Amino acid sequence: MCSHQTGGVPPDSSQDMVAVGDTPNRLNGHHGPNSATHPPNGANGHSSAKERRNPYAPRASDFLNNVSNFKIIESTLREGEQFANAFFDTETKIAIAKALDKFGVEYLELTSPAASEQSRRDCEAICKLGLNAKILTHIRCHMDDARIAVETGVDGVDVVIGTSSFLREFSHGKDMTYITKAAIEVINFVKSKGIEVRFSTEDSFRSDLVDLLSIYQTVDKIGVDRVGIADTVGCANPRQVYELVRTLRGVVACDIEIHLHNDTGMAIANAYTALEAGATHIDTSVLGIGERVGITPLGGLVACLYAANPDYVKSKYNLGMLREIENLVAEAVEVNVPFSNPITGYVAFTHKAGIHAKAILNNPSTYEILKPEDFGLTRYVSIGHRLTGWNAVKSRVEQLGLELTDAEIKDATAKIKELADVRTQSMDDVDSLLRVYHSGIQSGALEVGQKEALDRLLQEHRAAQLAAE
Ligand SMILES: [Zn+2]
Repeated sequence: MCSHQTGGVPPDSSQDMVAVGDTPNRLNGHHGPNSATHPPNGANGHSSAKERRNPYAPRASDFLNNVSNFKIIESTLREGEQFANAFFDTETKIAIAKALDKFGVEYLELTSPAASEQSRRDCEAICKLGLNAKILTHIRCHMDDARIAVETGVDGVDVVIGTSSFLREFSHGKDMTYITKAAIEVINFVKSKGIEVRFSTEDSFRSDLVDLLSIYQTVDKIGVDRVGIADTVGCANPRQVYELVRTLRGVVACDIEIHLHNDTGMAIANAYTALEAGATHIDTSVLGIGERVGITPLGGLVACLYAANPDYVKSKYNLGMLREIENLVAEAVEVNVPFSNPITGYVAFTHKAGIHAKAILNNPSTYEILKPEDFGLTRYVSIGHRLTGWNAVKSRVEQLGLELTDAEIKDATAKIKELADVRTQSMDDVDSLLRVYHSGIQSGALEVGQKEALDRLLQEHRAAQLAAE
């Protein structure tokens, strides 16, 4: 195990944390109503005059919502290869492809076979694995690339061309007439081979809207399977994403894919809002790796969509594998999983403040919208610090099998807080204190409030420990 792997267990969890199980009396419907599953005529399919007047009732636009009806195009093996640290050999690519397939992503997108001879061989090798996920490759809108791509055995080809004024002027130098002609030729060619084809513009949010809608309409008419919007530079905000996707939804009949860069940290929010506006496919990469700071991260997107509809997300994906996949990719590109990563960040399910701890112990839904056990992880309540509370300490007393009254536990907690005011106490420190306190009560050497007696017992315990060493 190398240093960039996360555990579901915080690094020092054996020292100062208590693992807390789910309580039997937790509420089930803690995620709130799912806006994506409103039936068209209100809750029970009937529509009274009162419901029609309800300003919060679903509107027509709500039925565009695909938050509970989407597919993931996992692009770690394409976009992810553009991450500064990435170099995936064949073996690593295959390991990542297999893990993502087992997780349950619907599509895997691979680097263009036109990029290099090895890229072509790797693409063919992954196509031969017989995975459940459909295999796509990502090419420039060019017949030379398309001819190579269709020979690799892929299930589909993702075609892309820049349409923004910046790219038209400073990158490929082509006008919209040329772009449209090239798109039609490539799409017809790929379709003639009986495989899926997607057409995407690049830097869509800085492209002329009329140009965009016109080319999407053209490719939709000739039978493209999906059109793609790409926030290649990460400039879009959720409202812009909603408006563009919703407008496009009204113009094309085919599926809509979206590719979102994370330069301003909005890639997950933008993906969510794209689904609300009617997008059908979201591009992700593991840990979000990609060009610059990358794209919508798989884990973060899953967290966001799970919060919206846990049952749907659980039914589609093998969530317990998320940590393993992130560790695999983190190791391959030599980065750490960020501490604040949704789901797998090492503090993702750690509760500290006494008030939080008490509520979490009664019902985890109070401060958790993600159930750690759904991801094969465990929640922790940190207790060896000065913000601790007696309820969390009581939970540890019970785990240790000690019998103390509430008054005794409160007394012991006061001592933990006093010590933690000087330095944070490890779990061992807390356990020792509780055991010493317990044996003091049992033997009659200690009563509630006898501070000096407790200090003496703790000193004797430390002396005995040192003598034993
Ligand atoms: Zn990209």
